[in-house]
Amino acid sequence: MSPDRPHKARKRFGQNFLVDEAVIDRIIASIGPATGQHIIEIGPGQEALTGPLLASGARLTVVEIDRDLAARLRLRHPDLAIRQADALDVDFAELADGEPYRLVGNLPYNISTPILFHLLAQSVPPRDMHFMLQKEVVLRMTAEHGDRAQGRLGLMCRNRAEVTHLFDVPPEAFLPRPRVESAIVRVTPRERPLVPESVEPVFDELVRLAFGRRRKTLRNSLREKLDAEDLEAAGVNPGARPETLGLEDFLALAHIAERKSAGR
Ligand code: SAM
Repeated sequence: MSPDRPHKARKRFGQNFLVDEAVIDRIIASIGPATGQHIIEIGPGQEALTGPLLASGARLTVVEIDRDLAARLRLRHPDLAIRQADALDVDFAELADGEPYRLVGNLPYNISTPILFHLLAQSVPPRDMHFMLQKEVVLRMTAEHGDRAQGRLGLMCRNRAEVTHLFDVPPEAFLPRPRVESAIVRVTPRERPLVPESVEPVFDELVRLAFGRRRKTLRNSLREKLDAEDLEAAGVNPGARPETLGLEDFLALAHIAERKSAGR
């Protein structure tokens, strides 16, 4: 195939290509790529970020699901490390050979939540990640308790990483234009999650139960694990709704649920 033949954007792969040079420059400046770093880009597409990343002198690996785009990249950059795959199936720690790596990407919006869960669960997490996402997803990732946007995604991100909403990107920066606003987010994994590994399964279960029925009071949504007295022992009002709780509240509840299930 010819590397110069125009590519028809595929909706099923969330293909909205960045075309605004000022936005591209601002993203690259936020990433700050440098010689000697290993950067993995998810979804290079037509190289909006790939070109400047290569020019920075960083060692680049790209993961692209679209066979035609991967073939085009191979023709244009015979020396580039290209993995034609679904990023959801990629073991990034293995792809980086256990060495430090950074992740970047203008992510397809249709898989943004599962991909974030997948990336934050890597056995060797990246040093940091810079992603373009739907703005609404970034607001959920950075939500504080009390925000209506708070939910499972925000708590999981806060547990494993520090998350910073850097700046917004309007639909006009892309071709074709998406219907929604976008935003750039920096995610820096913590050395150790805030929730200890021993209570993480029950923490996850409580969060899932609470936000699975987010319009119910906690007394109702958590009843199979905890009763009103348990909630009060953790300093939580049984009549409250889940978005009013912070990570520390769910952690206190997880400790009580864990002790209960161990019969202590
Ligand atoms: N980086 C380019 C840019 O900024 O213009 C393209 C961004 S476009 C929003 C998303 C890219 O991710 C496309 O190239 C698409 O083919 C690719 N993609 C979609 N789903 C993917 C997946 N599951 N794994 C890897 N790449 C994927």
